[in-house]
Amino acid sequence: MRSRAGIKAVSISLAVLTVTAFAQAFIYSRTLSVALLADLIHNFGDALTAIPLGLAFFFRSARGERWAGLGVVLAIFISALVALGQTIERFIHPRSLTHLWLLALAGVIGFVGNELAAQVRLRAGKRLGSPALVADGKHARVDGFVSLGVLASAAIVALGLQIADPVIGLVITLVILHITWESWHTVRSGNIQVDQYQGD
Ligand SMILES: [Zn+2]
Repeated sequence: MRSRAGIKAVSISLAVLTVTAFAQAFIYSRTLSVALLADLIHNFGDALTAIPLGLAFFFRSARGERWAGLGVVLAIFISALVALGQTIERFIHPRSLTHLWLLALAGVIGFVGNELAAQVRLRAGKRLGSPALVADGKHARVDGFVSLGVLASAAIVALGLQIADPVIGLVITLVILHITWESWHTVRSGNIQVDQYQGD
């Protein structure tokens, strides 16, 4: 029962984050904001981190879980490099952003999506006594504020400072790199905290 409730909380928050990232990807195709690109890559990356956990539950294989975990870390790392490359490119070749209201909306969508995922995880985590879920919930809550960076980018660019977009994109990229580093440590130690979801 406890394991099933844990998987349910993980699945719901995964679905919410995926929808959030797709909505942001659509808006990115209209605005081409690098701050938004970094944020949506981050949100996709976080959604991806749930995959090794799900696979581990499904196959009950520690080895498979580890390989999946390494694949996820690699995927997040490569996406962080893509965001970094795009941001640097934008510093060299600045461009004027349009559709600023749409860009602001993308920031709000990121905030709301992450906050919803945070509440699902925190509530289930406290009910099930799972430190892993609570930690994931706190992570998502912080990410909601990271998404507000996109809103800030739209506001500052509206005031005429186009440079704000790549600057904020760079900051968000650094956040992704930090999370990649943490995920790498988690995977390398071979403990994706499955036992904490599964209980006794
Ligand atoms: Zn995150």
